[in-house]
Amino acid sequence: MHIAILGAGAMGSFFGGLLAQAGNHVTLLDVDEAHLAAVRQDGLEVTTDSGTRTVRNLSAMRPDEAKHPVDLMIVFTKTMYTEVALQSARDAIGPGTVLLSLQNGLGNAERLAKFADVANVMVGVTTWPADKSEPGKVSSHGAGTIRMMTANGAQTEALKQTVATLNGAGLSSIVDANVWAAIWEKVAFNAALNSLCAVTHCTVGELTSTADGEPLALRIVNEVVSVANAKDIAANEEHVVENVRNALAHHRAHRPSMLQDVLAGRRTEIDSINGAVVDAARAIGHAVPCTETLLHLVKLIDARTQQTH
Ligand code: NAD
Repeated sequence: MHIAILGAGAMGSFFGGLLAQAGNHVTLLDVDEAHLAAVRQDGLEVTTDSGTRTVRNLSAMRPDEAKHPVDLMIVFTKTMYTEVALQSARDAIGPGTVLLSLQNGLGNAERLAKFADVANVMVGVTTWPADKSEPGKVSSHGAGTIRMMTANGAQTEALKQTVATLNGAGLSSIVDANVWAAIWEKVAFNAALNSLCAVTHCTVGELTSTADGEPLALRIVNEVVSVANAKDIAANEEHVVENVRNALAHHRAHRPSMLQDVLAGRRTEIDSINGAVVDAARAIGHAVPCTETLLHLVKLIDARTQQTH
């Protein structure tokens, strides 16, 4: 399979490395010149619990340099860059190209569907983690899964083939007809912990420093799940509450990606997380006051970041 990874940062490079190792023809597409140069010169170094290896059988270029349609394009930019990235990679998208997003947040299917027939758009969630320490080097520890589906809910041959390709690379994947519930559950988790940590600069564990921290996080979870349920999406509040409590208890030192972005002076994904929930809530006349307040606070931080960088 010829696979392009659009946005080859932490997640994209990790996926690209494993897919190339499994024998696929992989092209990393990114705008980070230092990363592209490092991969071209020394290969991609991938570190997992089973050790470090250098993957050399992949190419790396800017999206506008990719001139031939691929079979599968996996989009792993941050969500606010999806459309500009797809626009610059449009020569690599043909009538048969599958576009897959495992990005966080809401609205991914809609963004991808602007560039391909909806029958070729796939979305999902992944629990695989990844970090990029320096150009050319990615790591991922622990095991993860992928749950995915076509955007229009059709069980297609291309869906089966995409899942098989990911499984062939060890990225354990399943077709999940309830993928929208999984997507909303992950958004509920992120809307609570990412935005609270981004605003307070607390690690996940530090959110329990006062008695009000956990109830506030759980209130946001309740707001987000209520919107999903009102839209007939069967997100399960208990699942998310359990995941939040588990994170507060066991991942105490973790800095969620939104806090890492704030600390590094980068824009956050707040619009596709709290922002998209607020939009969905407004459309059905629901109030989500805590989610909305955090949206505005993080947007103020983003605005200040843009002024000072
Ligand atoms: P990242 O910042 O490490 O990588 C994003 C990459 O996109 C960067 O290399 C950047 O240069 C590139 N990019 C930006 N604009 C581009 C453009 N116009 N064209 C091509 N490339 C462009 O981010 P990440 O941590 O890999 O996360 C990617 C997505 O996956 C996000 O939606 C995130 O929420 C989600 N996610 C991340 C993790 C994780 O553990 N890192 C886990 C699950 C989901």
